[in-house]
Amino acid sequence: MEDVRAWINGLPTCEASELELVERIRVLEELKAQAAAAQARLAVDLDSAVRQRHEELKVPAAQVGRGVPSQVAAARRESPFRGGRHLGFAKALVAEMPHTLAAMEAGLLSEWRATILARETACLSGEDRRSIDDTLLADPATVEGWGDRRLAAEAKKLADQLDPEAQVKRNARATADRRVSIRPSPDTMAIISALLPVAQGVAVWAALKTVADALLGEGDERTRGQIMADTLVERVTGQEVADDVPVQVTVTISDEALLAGGSEPAWLADYGPIPASLARRVVDTATKNAIATLRRLYVASTGQLAAMDSTATAFPKSLALFIDLRDQICRTPWCDAPIRHHDHVRSLLAGGPTTAQNGQGLCEQCNYAKEAPGWSARPTGPPDGPHEVETTLPTGHTLRSRAPDPPQPSELRPRVVEAEIFKPDVAIAIDYAA
Ligand SMILES: [Zn+2]
Repeated sequence: MEDVRAWINGLPTCEASELELVERIRVLEELKAQAAAAQARLAVDLDSAVRQRHEELKVPAAQVGRGVPSQVAAARRESPFRGGRHLGFAKALVAEMPHTLAAMEAGLLSEWRATILARETACLSGEDRRSIDDTLLADPATVEGWGDRRLAAEAKKLADQLDPEAQVKRNARATADRRVSIRPSPDTMAIISALLPVAQGVAVWAALKTVADALLGEGDERTRGQIMADTLVERVTGQEVADDVPVQVTVTISDEALLAGGSEPAWLADYGPIPASLARRVVDTATKNAIATLRRLYVASTGQLAAMDSTATAFPKSLALFIDLRDQICRTPWCDAPIRHHDHVRSLLAGGPTTAQNGQGLCEQCNYAKEAPGWSARPTGPPDGPHEVETTLPTGHTLRSRAPDPPQPSELRPRVVEAEIFKPDVAIAIDYAA
């Protein structure tokens, strides 16, 4: 390992001729493909080693191999979800796509192009997959010069010939993948996307368009796009006017930003940071409609946190909410998934208490991985400092995670905040010092 690193670090970049520069770029590209092939073999070996250890420990069959995607992910500095993808791809390469793997090992096929082949043949039997692997990659010159799109199309064509039902299976798989997601867009806008079976997707679009056509006909002054966007919000949230604040929007904002015109950005749950002025507008509208709740998040210096702790084995609602607001997303490094589980960092079995300090927000996959044999975790930060967790993997490697910094409190007195209580539809979590 060290000599490869030393060689790459030692490559001089100046004084080389154009010819040398181009040749080095090519060699490094080949090295990347070779490295990806080696990573695939190593991932499969790791999977076998972990499965063998789990079997020796008599782990229930359904849990054998649990945590391997997270180990692969940690090694690659990627999310556990992608770790799972990498592992599935590696297993397919080693078991069913020997020529594809060989082409990578020869530096002739990139990891991405091999991924395209694995994806396009994913619904086939092992035998059919091997046949396509043989047709396209027994001689890598076959695909040399093909663009990614052509590579995918040729693989798909072969798949349809070998297994006409494959298209049906692909469709069933794609349908199972239907989902709705949100991501931030510039200028504090958000993009909501829905991945839908085609008929439903077209139906949603047509319904919005029909409303827009009708209203435009009646002289509505908004653009077609604006009417469709407003109608989408009204239909989905059940409100009569899109501008009303949707039910259950959670904003975390410092008292200074909320009450004293401060400029520190606030955090909108499921979205991310928003400017203080926009957060104040959201809160204003909610307050006018008497649907806002102000909730003290914590007071670092007065033991407010301790009051939220519980003797129950499950996290009570208030503590779970606190963890959601503190952690924002799954606490595993590189994992972007939303929080689904409120996890005892040190498990209940190991005597871990139900406290904010011993709690963390994790996605499902990360929580299950952490329960595999050989994993352990402990909170490491001081009780009044930033919340920190150290997770130790079965290999002894450690992952450190630190909660995002909360909005900074000002010197305002708590009673100013406590006076404001409204109907509990919109929760505004406030962080302030005593
Ligand atoms: Zn996660």
